[in-house]
Amino acid sequence: MSKLLEVKDLRVSFNTYNGEVQAVRGVNFELNKGETLAIVGESGSGKSVTTSALMGLLPKPQAMIKTGEILFEGQDIVKKSNKEMQKIRGKDISMVFQDPMSSLNPTMKVGNQIMEGLIKHQHMNRTDAKKKALELLDQVGIPHPDVRLHQYPHQFSGGMRQRVVIAIALACNPKILIADEPTTALDVTIQAQILELMKEIQRESDSAIVFITHDLGVVANVADRVAVMYAGKIIETGTVDDIFYNAKHPYTWGLLGSMPTPDSDDEELFAIPGSPPDMSNPPKGDAFAPRNKFALEIDTVMEPPMFKVSDTHYAATWLLHEDAPKIEPPDSVKKRMQGFARTRGDK
Ligand code: ADP
Ligand code: MG
Repeated sequence: MSKLLEVKDLRVSFNTYNGEVQAVRGVNFELNKGETLAIVGESGSGKSVTTSALMGLLPKPQAMIKTGEILFEGQDIVKKSNKEMQKIRGKDISMVFQDPMSSLNPTMKVGNQIMEGLIKHQHMNRTDAKKKALELLDQVGIPHPDVRLHQYPHQFSGGMRQRVVIAIALACNPKILIADEPTTALDVTIQAQILELMKEIQRESDSAIVFITHDLGVVANVADRVAVMYAGKIIETGTVDDIFYNAKHPYTWGLLGSMPTPDSDDEELFAIPGSPPDMSNPPKGDAFAPRNKFALEIDTVMEPPMFKVSDTHYAATWLLHEDAPKIEPPDSVKKRMQGFARTRGDK
């Protein structure tokens, strides 16, 4: 597998009136060609700040990259100028945001918005760009592309708008497509359609996808690998199977346990109590300890390192230390993992 992106010890802080907010605190991950990586975590865990850093779109001057490297095809994005990043954005790395309206220009016809990137980055003439724009609208499943091309964003429904944004993001065959909660604002049926669309596109174009979501439930069907984020760090990472059948971190158990399933109505949900820590004053030790009913004494003193579970699976919890008591996931979570194994087995 060839490495497309490598993020090493990324730390991002914000300067605020209340002091320094440590939004991202040492994130490491890799993305291979053609792969889908899901980054999952509750709101505020640092997912969007991480993706903004990848795109070179951190708000200045408040945000600072304190340490770290973001190697795209071996070159450090952190060191690139704004101008260099503009070339990479939309061409090599493109992004789909949660709210399609924030990335569409309401006063410009959809066709022109798709053609813009083709003309600028691919140096196409208008005729070719228009042809390609029609193809793209068709590819993202928008009926009557020849009519739609001449319409404005407000003439599209939410789901169709998100398809337009995806068409724009795909226009230049990016090597990496970053989707930051692209379906959260959409209803469940449309969400499923958009996710299916992204998978289809990937099969055809071989681009890698970084899929950001707070909802572990949507990840099982789209991702190859999952990185679970908490309080600015990746606390567990593995293949979809590692995470869904064999999660090791109590926070991941919490995410699995609070996932609604078709037969979970009468079952007790294993919800995560409390709320994430204040990132202007992150706790000593394991940031998840105050919410973790399985916390050990050492958790309040020292941060756990990433323990290796297998070649593909790592988790940062002291429960994996050889001297730790052997703790099993709660029954409701175990049941989910077994249920998941069954549905995977049926395929
Ligand atoms: P997520 O996308 O996982 O919901 P974010 O990456 O948006 O979370 O935010 C991570 C942390 O960074 C949060 O604590 C948030 O309050 C803080 N943060 C994000 N943007 C800013 C900003 N512009 N100024 C100050 N703090 C910010
Ligand atoms: Mg976010």
